[in-house]
Amino acid sequence: MQSLSCDILIVGGGGAALFAAIHARDAAPDLDIVVASKGLFGKSGCTRMVQGGYNVVLHPEDSFDKHYDDTLRGGSLINNQELAWTLVTQAPERVFEMENSFGCTFDRNADGTIHQRALAGQSFDRTIHRGDLTGIEIISRLSEQVLVRDIEMLNEVRGIELLFDSSGKTVVGALLLDQHSGDLVAVESSAVLLATGGAAPLYRITPASLEKSGDGLAMAYRAGAEFVDMEMMQFHPTGLIVDGSLLNGTVLEEGLRGAGGHLLNADHERYMERYDPEKMERSTRDRVSRSGMMEIRAGRGTASQGVYLDVRHLGKDFLLKSSPGMYERCLSVGTDMATDLIEVTPTAHFQMGGVRIESDCRTSLSGLFAAGEDAGGVHGANRLGGNGVAESMVFGAIAGESIARHAKETGRVAIDSERLSVACARFEGAGEITGTPFQLKNRLRALAWDDLGILRNAEGLARTATGLNTIEEELNALPMPRQRGGNPDLQERLDAENLLDVARLIGAAAILREESRGSHFREDFPDTDDRFLINFIQRRDPDGTLKSESRPVEFSRRALETLRGETLIPV
Ligand SMILES: Cc1cc2nc3c(=O)[nH]c(=O)nc-3n(C[C@H](O)[C@H](O)[C@H](O)COP(=O)(O)OP(=O)(O)OC[C@H]3O[C@@H](n4cnc5c(N)ncnc54)[C@H](O)[C@@H]3O)c2cc1C
Repeated sequence: MQSLSCDILIVGGGGAALFAAIHARDAAPDLDIVVASKGLFGKSGCTRMVQGGYNVVLHPEDSFDKHYDDTLRGGSLINNQELAWTLVTQAPERVFEMENSFGCTFDRNADGTIHQRALAGQSFDRTIHRGDLTGIEIISRLSEQVLVRDIEMLNEVRGIELLFDSSGKTVVGALLLDQHSGDLVAVESSAVLLATGGAAPLYRITPASLEKSGDGLAMAYRAGAEFVDMEMMQFHPTGLIVDGSLLNGTVLEEGLRGAGGHLLNADHERYMERYDPEKMERSTRDRVSRSGMMEIRAGRGTASQGVYLDVRHLGKDFLLKSSPGMYERCLSVGTDMATDLIEVTPTAHFQMGGVRIESDCRTSLSGLFAAGEDAGGVHGANRLGGNGVAESMVFGAIAGESIARHAKETGRVAIDSERLSVACARFEGAGEITGTPFQLKNRLRALAWDDLGILRNAEGLARTATGLNTIEEELNALPMPRQRGGNPDLQERLDAENLLDVARLIGAAAILREESRGSHFREDFPDTDDRFLINFIQRRDPDGTLKSESRPVEFSRRALETLRGETLIPV
């Protein structure tokens, strides 16, 4: 085993992690910072996939209040109001910093101001973008800034377990695994930031990058941190169906529906007439996803368990001009959008729930911070398109500054060697490579898709709980492989273990929320119910049991009555 000592350890390599590294370095240039990323630096995670853009108040006719109210209403009123306010009010600073200090360029209007476009659920067109490659622009410029600051990057090194000091109460490092060499690395640091991007790939169909397997969430869970709103998982209505390909579930942006695209079932009916005759295909993401799934469950889906997106009537010229990336992507799998129906499915897109944080990104555990999709509470029951990447930038920056402050105050503390030995011991494997963890992970993802996904009910949630136990037993029965380096079998096993923990959290919260709100839909409780204006807080007790409790939503900045205006977005 190798060991490493630093002041700040950042686990993750996406937008939140890189922004945190830059801000930590600038806040405290004398501190040693290490960033460990499971995927390749600058090439992994979902920040680089961002197409639609970043929500920010820039126009004089827009206001923080409007953006704030849209965010709370979009979140079906259960957002953490302090976090949402932080998001909205600090989003402009991050844009100015990205443009003026990091060299990002966003698209411009003829008068030189930044172009802002419309995304669903917003009362003002406030989404800035760089064509449909916004994420690549952001992550490329952030990567350059990390490089010029000479921050140590550990590439393709995954976080495995958080480590504590001798009191067992303060996080003072983490155990990492170098996926190439197989070396275990014990990192001693004053504090740890988790920014591993959530667990959307828990579900069989997802556009999210597949190395994201809820690792940060599971590490925090096993360490005893508090979670919030874990039942809230967003599905995007139109993921491309490409059976057997990594492209399966890749998102076709809602601009296509906004421009007049139709959704058809296998009988070529515009089925949104059944679910939202007024807004039809322009209805909210959660409602359109749910409607598609209901058609499929009712036997009106295509042979590949999808529905059709029909944009043929928009014409080739328009499609090529407005959506060149999507046009090309469809063509690469043999579908010409201008002449063919596109087979699509709802796809697991974004995790609203996560580790509970304060406005400065501290978690309930001393020494542990979280930011980006690993953190929960900002978006409530449903995230507005454009607020995700804004969250990663805003809270990444805050986390960097907070963790630097914490590191300066506390200094480095030794890791408890006994706990470290326990964490390492399980890796002394004796088994051969079998391929079985991969199959178990796939079974888990199918189970989550069927019963923990868009349409939930008590029976399905109970089935999931049993199914998770069975998968866990089978996983535990597998010997740990002898070969640690370059062994996908081991990575799949660790992924599956972490996804199991996340699935348990989601399932336990979903069974308690006996109502439908935002992305959480219970077939047995289809109405939204004021008794559930609460957040479910969960954590693992030291004896290993999962504890869940509810806390009333704190209407600290906006009263419930104010939010229940005429423009309330239907949930
Ligand atoms: C297809 C798609 C399009 C999107 N479009 C938009 C949009 O237009 N607007 C918007 O606001 N949001 C959008 N989102 C959401 C947005 O991408 C996320 O909100 C945001 O990028 C999350 O940032 P993050 O830093 O938390 O995680 P990510 O950028 O996903 O990064 C996670 C990082 O953690 C690393 N990692 C994972 N596990 C470990 C581990 N064990 N150890 C170390 N590192 C680990 C990964 O390799 C990766 O580098 C989109 C998402 C998808 C999937």
